[in-house]
Amino acid sequence: MSRKIVSFISLQYKISLLVISSCLMVLIAITVFEYLYISTRINYEAENRLISEVTGKIHSYIQDRDKWGTRESALDFTQKHDFYIRFESGLLNSERRTQQSEGNEHTPGLNPYFHLVDYNGNILSLYDGSPEVKENIIITRSYTSLKIDDEVVGYIRIFEIPSLAEEKSILLEPIIAAMKVGFLTTVLIALGIGIVSGKRITHPLRQLTDIADSLKDGLKGQQITNLDSRDEIGILARALNAMSLELEIKHTEVRNLAIRDGLTGLYNRRFFDEQIRVMISNAHRYNHYLTLVLGDVDHFKQVNDSFSHSIGDRVLKQISNIIQEGVREGDLAARYGGEEIVLVLSESDNAESLIIIERIRKQIESFNWGSIAVGLSVTMSFGLCAQNSPESYDLMIEEADKRLYDAKKMGRNRTSSS
Ligand code: GH3
Ligand code: MG
Ligand code: MG
Repeated sequence: MSRKIVSFISLQYKISLLVISSCLMVLIAITVFEYLYISTRINYEAENRLISEVTGKIHSYIQDRDKWGTRESALDFTQKHDFYIRFESGLLNSERRTQQSEGNEHTPGLNPYFHLVDYNGNILSLYDGSPEVKENIIITRSYTSLKIDDEVVGYIRIFEIPSLAEEKSILLEPIIAAMKVGFLTTVLIALGIGIVSGKRITHPLRQLTDIADSLKDGLKGQQITNLDSRDEIGILARALNAMSLELEIKHTEVRNLAIRDGLTGLYNRRFFDEQIRVMISNAHRYNHYLTLVLGDVDHFKQVNDSFSHSIGDRVLKQISNIIQEGVREGDLAARYGGEEIVLVLSESDNAESLIIIERIRKQIESFNWGSIAVGLSVTMSFGLCAQNSPESYDLMIEEADKRLYDAKKMGRNRTSSS
C-alpha cells in the first residue's frame, strides 16, 4: 500500500517537474535570445553613432580647411581631434574616460577603440598607443568606409566597441526586472500546470492500479468507469476491464464447481454443511423460525432398475429443477446424498413450510414424467422440522430424518412434520 502511494507521488512529481523544466527551458531560451538581440542592437547603434560622429568631424574639417588626403592634413586632423580623450560621443565608458582625462593626452598604452585613416591610408587616430603616424595602411575588409555625399573620405576599423556597461544596464535593467517577474510567474504557472496535469495523468493510473490490486486480492468484477480516452491508459483500462470481467466469470465457474453438485446443480453437501450452522446460529440469535426439510425420492432404486441409470439421473435433475424453482431466495436447497435432498427454509414456521413443501411435492407428482420415459412416474417424500430460535443442527436433522421415515412408513408421496 505504502509503496503504491510513494510510486504515485513520485510519478506525479516527475510529470510536474517535466512541465516546470520545459517551461523554464523555453523561458531561459527566450531570455537569452532577447538579451543577445538587445546587446547586438545596442552595439550596432553604438558603431553607427561612432561612424557618423567621426564622419561629421571629417566633414567639418574638410569644410574649414579645404584640404584632405595628405599626410599634413592627417597630422593636423589628428592633433585637432584627439579621439583618445576628446571624443565625446558618450560611448566611452566612464572608467576609460577617467583614466584618459587624468593622464597625458598621448599616454602610450591607452588603446583607442578604433583605427581611422583617410582615403589615402594616412592615419587619423593613434593606434596601439603609438604616437607615430604610419602611412599607406592597407585597407582590408575589416575597415568600414566613411562617406560624405557618396564619396569615400576615409576608413574606420573598430577594434573594440566601447563598453556600454552604463547604457546597457540602463536599457537592460527594466528588461531584466520584467524577466525576473516573468520567471517567477512562469515557475508558478508551470507548478500549477505541472500539478494539475500530473494529477490528471495519475488519477486514471490510480484507478488502474486499484483494479489491478483488487484483482490480485481476489475482488473481481470491478470496472473502470468514466475512462473513454483513446490513449494508452484508455487501452490499458479497457484491457483491465475485460480481464476483470473474464476473471469474474471464471471465478463464478470455479466457485460453482466448488459449491454445486455436478449432476443436479443444487448446492453440494459440503456447502450445505458450511451454511447450515451459520443459518441456525443467525436464526437463534435473531429469534427467527428455521425449517429443515429432508426429501427422498420414492422407490428410486426401481426407477434405476426398471428404466436405466441415466433415466434415473434425468429424474434427479428434473426433481432438482422443480425444487430450485419452488423455494424462495434466501432458502437453500442441496443434494444431501444419493437421491436425498435437503432444504433450509428461512423465516418459515411449520405451517408456512408445509405449504411450500406440499406445493413442491405435488409438482413432482404431477410432472409429465412420461416425457422422460414412457410409463415413468415419480413421487417424493419429505420430513420437516420447523423450529423458532433453533439451537442444534444435529437435533434438527435428526428430527427431519424421523419425519421422513414417518412419511415413508405412511405410504410415501407425502410430507410429515412434527
Ligand atoms: P425408498 O422409497 O425407500 O427411498 O426406496 P429407494 O429405492 O429410493 O431407496 P434406496 O435407498 O434403496 O435406493 C436409492 C437408490 O438411489 C440407490 C442408488 O442406486 C440410487 N442412486 C443414488 N444416487 C444416484 C444417482 O446419482 N443416480 C442414479 N441414477 N441413481 C442413484
Ligand atoms: Mg434414500
Ligand atoms: Mg429413496
